[in-house]
Amino acid sequence: QATSRILGSGVRLPPLPSIRDLVKLYKLQAMKQLSQNFLMDERLTDKIVKAAGRIDPRDIVLEVGPGPGGITRSILRRQPQRLMLVEKDARFTETLQLLRECARPLNVQVDIYHEDILRFNIEQHVPDTAQRLHLIGNLPFAISTRLLINWYEDLAARRGAFRRNDTCMTLTFQKEVAERICAKLGSDQRCRLSIMSQIWTEPLLKFIIPGKAFVPKPQVDVGVVKVIPLKKPKTQLPFSLVERVVRHIFSMRQKYCRRGYSTLLPPEGREETTHALFQLADVQDTLRPFELSVDECLRLADVYADHVAAHPQLASYDYRAPKQALQLESICLA
Ligand code: SAM
Repeated sequence: QATSRILGSGVRLPPLPSIRDLVKLYKLQAMKQLSQNFLMDERLTDKIVKAAGRIDPRDIVLEVGPGPGGITRSILRRQPQRLMLVEKDARFTETLQLLRECARPLNVQVDIYHEDILRFNIEQHVPDTAQRLHLIGNLPFAISTRLLINWYEDLAARRGAFRRNDTCMTLTFQKEVAERICAKLGSDQRCRLSIMSQIWTEPLLKFIIPGKAFVPKPQVDVGVVKVIPLKKPKTQLPFSLVERVVRHIFSMRQKYCRRGYSTLLPPEGREETTHALFQLADVQDTLRPFELSVDECLRLADVYADHVAAHPQLASYDYRAPKQALQLESICLA
């Protein structure tokens, strides 16, 4: 069926009540525990979807938390082949079904999943990798960082949504979190999340949405980040090992980076081994964690990986568990 085009935002949808009216009509009061802050302004929802870049007619879009469907409408206007909607709150099922009916003439396959995105098995619902996937969402604040880290883990293992290397994420975060994800070397916001993000992806802060654009208004402004997986990952090390090393390095943010890193090792010989590993990695151990480049963090992860390969008992060392530390010390001394 023929559809008319609107410049910039794609095709026109059949007439629908406004999102504001739908929310009123279906009494969809926002629930704080599900981090619900709705976007009602079509220009903003179009802008978020535009930030995702080109959506081809063969592509699949997965939207996280469509809620009453503002961003969903903007995605539908771009006519992907399939639109997957993963929403935890069953109250929205009816409005999403209504949207699916109205969008029938556009020939977009709309699949609604009443599920938790943190448990959603993408491979089960997209079994082959013939089509490109876009992940888009005005994310619930409460799970946004956890979801992103889960996706980095999938990306590192080339599984789930990341079996292809061209799956892009276009996501919202609290402004400060968005800035941390993208923070460059030496920036005040540079943290563990910056390093983890920049090891596997190129994150771009596209624009800021003022808090007042949402209903209800959150305490903070919101940043839209496009997270583009690197074609060539900066490391082949297992995600869990890299995550552990970066977590330890940043555990003492204001101290020399050797302090946090050293807690990867048992107390006996800790200082000497830390010094030796920094020398092997060719990294200055008096830099602060936020002064380390991604490459320096990865060199520290490389030498730690080699050290653990030579001393496998260290892999499970936890400096916060004193009993275990004693046992390990005796193993190391034996
Ligand atoms: N996309 C809508 C918009 O922009 O107006 C709603 C965005 S609101 C910030 C977040 C949405 O995610 C809500 O609809 C909420 O119910 C949903 N949500 C919260 N936790 C979720 C989870 N674990 N899995 C899937 N959806 C979730």
